[in-house]
Amino acid sequence: MGIRTGAQIMEGLRDGRQLYMDGALVSDVTRDPRLKGGARTMAQLFDMQNRPELLDEMTYASPLTGDRVGLSFLPAKSREDLARRRAMTRRWHDHTLGMFGRAPDFLNVMLASFAACPEAFGPYAGNMRACYERAREGDRISTHSLTNPQADRTRDVTAQAAGLAAKAVRDTHAGVVIRGARMLASLGAYADDLLVMPAPSFPLPETEEAKPYAIGFCIPIATKGVKLISRPGVLAPGGGSPHDHPLSGRFDESDCMVIFDDVLVPWENVLMHRDTALYNGLYRKAQVMNSMAHQFCVRDLCKAEFMMGLAFALVRCAKIDGFQHIQGMLAELINSAQVLRSCVLTSELEAEMTPFGVMAPALGPLSAVRFLFPEMFRRSCEIIQVMGAGGLVMVPSHAEMTGPLAEEVKTYYQAAGADADTRIRLFRLAFDACLSTFSGRQQLYERYFAGDPVRGAGSLYQSFDKEPHVERIHALLERFKREDGPL
Ligand SMILES: Cc1cc2nc3c(=O)[nH]c(=O)nc-3n(C[C@H](O)[C@H](O)[C@H](O)COP(=O)(O)OP(=O)(O)OC[C@H]3O[C@@H](n4cnc5c(N)ncnc54)[C@H](O)[C@@H]3O)c2cc1C
Repeated sequence: MGIRTGAQIMEGLRDGRQLYMDGALVSDVTRDPRLKGGARTMAQLFDMQNRPELLDEMTYASPLTGDRVGLSFLPAKSREDLARRRAMTRRWHDHTLGMFGRAPDFLNVMLASFAACPEAFGPYAGNMRACYERAREGDRISTHSLTNPQADRTRDVTAQAAGLAAKAVRDTHAGVVIRGARMLASLGAYADDLLVMPAPSFPLPETEEAKPYAIGFCIPIATKGVKLISRPGVLAPGGGSPHDHPLSGRFDESDCMVIFDDVLVPWENVLMHRDTALYNGLYRKAQVMNSMAHQFCVRDLCKAEFMMGLAFALVRCAKIDGFQHIQGMLAELINSAQVLRSCVLTSELEAEMTPFGVMAPALGPLSAVRFLFPEMFRRSCEIIQVMGAGGLVMVPSHAEMTGPLAEEVKTYYQAAGADADTRIRLFRLAFDACLSTFSGRQQLYERYFAGDPVRGAGSLYQSFDKEPHVERIHALLERFKREDGPL
């Protein structure tokens, strides 16, 4: 089949999924006013793949059928492949300004990396390979749910309230029956498939009681018994004209709790089964983090460049770009974007072939971005708040441009560098980017989407090769002692 069009994506979303929002079942995510903006964005991304002038940039020939398939499914075999994948990711995330973090390339890259090392899945290696090929050939959109519900973080999953966390409750001839809940599937409203996998910072104890929780599988999101509970949309119901919420109305990707109500996972969809060793060792063995981090660092770069451009446009409006502290903050945004760009390129330059034949970008520079970018993004929001100041809350709804006060609005909202229409649009965009509920969710996303930064930082410190650095300091002490002579 190969790449799908936006229209096919919209059609695919009408699959009878059980998505609940604001206390009721959503009947059609493509028409629901809280969700249709995200669906439209998703459709646009898929239409981009079909544009003749972008076909080579966004797709490649399937090794199975020769049909064009999405380039984010490409297992990189060379640095050139990494550069191609970067260009593809950039194209999608420049379109969404880095604000639609779960565009399908995020999980496509993960699936491609897992499929390159199927032996990490032990007896389910063939299922993993098939899961990847199904997604690639059908151009399917995936979401994943890695962690158990946040109930009591002082106890491991086996000691939580009975029935809370999703686990295998029964094995049958046809498959495994799963009951309980998992958090947190972003994109639940728009994904075709749900991937349940381990989370690196939530290892399981190697005990008999933990085995039912050591599960992994990939099923269609509309599978019988799968219920998604979404948080409310970022816009209040009836929240005004789309002109006033350019980001909230387009890029809210949804975040869902997933409930498994005795869901039968057929054996061919099982990727892991009651195997704590496999569950805990998966990421180390398959080395998927390098490729995934490469994808999200490119997205971070797109986001940083958008925030920088927004700040440039904003300061020209009321001509504040001549003030030195404003220039200092603009320089900060320029430097952030440069650091991200350099890290992405360095990761490609220092990429190495894994034992299973994948060109893995160097993790060091990408890991640096993973820890630095949440702060960079929060800071860019703060900088735009400082620059926009009262203007961010003074601009009215865009509807005033055609209301009874239209003439007054044209006069009183003009700025030295923009007419009233442009100024209102620009400041509404800035508000959405740095102050709105949408922005708050973006800030939270950057902090947590790649796992808990606290435990992540601990692992980074523990795994980093510190010895040469410590030895160097002691050698330096010796040298200084020698050079400075006896006391
Ligand atoms: C917007 C958003 C989108 C997300 N999308 C997805 C998704 O699509 N799929 C997915 O699987 N996950 C997703 N996540 C979830 C993400 O994986 C988790 O948020 C992350 O792993 C942290 O887990 P938690 O939220 O349960 O926080 P917790 O683990 O409950 O931590 C809460 C706080 O307690 C501290 N804490 C808890 N336990 C410990 C400990 N043992 N040691 C030290 N400190 C501790 C943490 O540092 C943190 O400050 C998303 C998260 C967000 C915010």
